[in-house]
Amino acid sequence: MRSHFNYLRPECLTECLDILAQYGSETTILAGGTDVMISLRSNVKKPGIILDISRLPETRLVEPSGETVRVGSTLTYSELIDHPVISHEFPALRSAMGCVGSLQIRNVGTLGGNIANSSPAADSFPPMMLRDAEIIIQKKGSLRIQKLEKLIVGAYSNTLEPDELITGIILKKAETGSRESYQRIGRRKSLSIARINAGILGRLNDSGEIQDVRISIGSVAPTPMRITDVERNLIGLRPELKTIREAGQMIAQRIIELVGVRQSTEYKQPAIAGLAQKCLEDVFLDSNSN
Ligand SMILES: Cc1cc2nc3c(=O)[nH]c(=O)nc-3n(C[C@H](O)[C@H](O)[C@H](O)COP(=O)(O)OP(=O)(O)OC[C@H]3O[C@@H](n4cnc5c(N)ncnc54)[C@H](O)[C@@H]3O)c2cc1C
Repeated sequence: MRSHFNYLRPECLTECLDILAQYGSETTILAGGTDVMISLRSNVKKPGIILDISRLPETRLVEPSGETVRVGSTLTYSELIDHPVISHEFPALRSAMGCVGSLQIRNVGTLGGNIANSSPAADSFPPMMLRDAEIIIQKKGSLRIQKLEKLIVGAYSNTLEPDELITGIILKKAETGSRESYQRIGRRKSLSIARINAGILGRLNDSGEIQDVRISIGSVAPTPMRITDVERNLIGLRPELKTIREAGQMIAQRIIELVGVRQSTEYKQPAIAGLAQKCLEDVFLDSNSN
């Protein structure tokens, strides 16, 4: 680890953005530090300044407003999991956050850090994509809002500039009657990253046919993806077990077409199908899930 760096902990957003405007290119932002500390220890990062953003009051709020909720970027997973608005509005995201690392990791790790780190295996991405997540990015004197899938451009790669800070995430509330599910496969139950993760949201019409469905799969490609052609195929169908089984297989088939056949395909294809099927069952068949 580099032995000398300046440690700064601004007490408000204006002060923080001023520092980034002046010293952004030599600064590493530190939120919970769960990813940053690893890159500092392994000398991947050698910053001149560590900018601790954990105390910014402007980024520590959950604010419902009309059809959306704005979630502050520096709230920890544990704070969000315990938040009544998150529990009520975003059950799949809550469940995904509950899968992150261990309690110690969840007590300090943040959603903003997860987004900026841009890991293909990020647990929060599939459930946020179900809610059209838009990321609020600020720098001194300006603010831009970018859809999550546009911000993440590859594995550990995004469009953030050195002087920019993620200050919040805008998530859409679901239509009345919607249900959603998050499932993942990891090597162990805790302290393992997702090898495949899936979020599905759906709603039936009064006749019991699928009116709306969103399918988001992560960890299988550099960036998470919506499987929109399978979504379209499901609209208007009755969610019987046979339909759901076939949909799981179609989702897996589509992903293999997108990422190409690899050594792991033999294991991954049935695993994706099974995981997607489990989510679809939670959403459309299991009346006790959400
Ligand atoms: C043991 C272990 C287990 C883990 N398990 C999981 C897991 O199961 N699932 C999972 O998804 N992740 C997992 N992670 C990864 C990590 O915990 C998450 O990515 C976490 O959300 C990062 O948040 P943080 O606040 O700790 O970020 P930090 O480590 O502080 O920052 C991460 C990166 O984002 C930048 N950054 C942070 N906040 C902002 C911001 N607001 N604006 C701009 N840039 C910012 C930092 O400069 C850094 O590059 C694990 C990590 C560890 C060490």
